[in-house]
Amino acid sequence: MQLDYKNIYKLYKNTISIGITMNEQKILQYFPNAIEGQKLTVEVVDKLAKNHRFTPKNTLFGFSTCPDEINRTVTRFESYYGEKHFPLGGLAGYPFRGKTGFSAFSHHAPDNGNLLILYGPHIGISESGELGKILRENQSHESTACGAAIAFLNKYNSAKKNGKLYEPNYDILDMEHYQIEKMLIPHADKIISSQNQVKGLVEVNYNLIEQDIIKLIQELKHHFKGKIALVGGIMINTMNKGYFEPRRFEICYKGKVERVCL
Ligand SMILES: [Zn+2]
Repeated sequence: MQLDYKNIYKLYKNTISIGITMNEQKILQYFPNAIEGQKLTVEVVDKLAKNHRFTPKNTLFGFSTCPDEINRTVTRFESYYGEKHFPLGGLAGYPFRGKTGFSAFSHHAPDNGNLLILYGPHIGISESGELGKILRENQSHESTACGAAIAFLNKYNSAKKNGKLYEPNYDILDMEHYQIEKMLIPHADKIISSQNQVKGLVEVNYNLIEQDIIKLIQELKHHFKGKIALVGGIMINTMNKGYFEPRRFEICYKGKVERVCL
């Protein structure tokens, strides 16, 4: 990816150089291109408005991120494009709305308008710098984030410890999680051999989500004629702030893809 984050990184480093906390150190260590989610929002909105004429009137915002409530305040795209946004993702951020959901989303765009899609998995970082943990508002104990993805990791590790190969259970009342586990199984050994398993897990999740988002966008080209802006990355949840490490920012239009620099 060709984005130049050096200046942003420096700026980001400068903003937290006084009184850097343990979780901020971990963000820099594992996600060196992360920026505050609010800042990302402003920069993306600004670029889209100036260079591609995305406005609140001609843009429909959709997102494929985990429904976990802590993700709702990482970015603020709805404050620019309106409260009528389209959730495209399910547990762990996978685009579970699928072809039908993406097609509906595209048909709901304003006439001659555009789509903006934010996507990616999320990861908590606790105050002590532990990846995959967060202390939520009005709770006294830390919990996992992303809980859905980490639940798989725990089950896989536990089965392995007992010399067994983990097999996901088909459950009609837990279809999204079953599907997540089926998708993760082929990557599980790579994940558990990572230096940090939770970091390995979020990277695999990002790739799986992105791969399907790209396929779903391809499906739209037959009937959707406007611009589609894709903003993909990893959402990072901490107790006080949300961060986002951008991995892809591009515009798909008339069969062409244009990368955008932040
Ligand atoms: Zn989650």
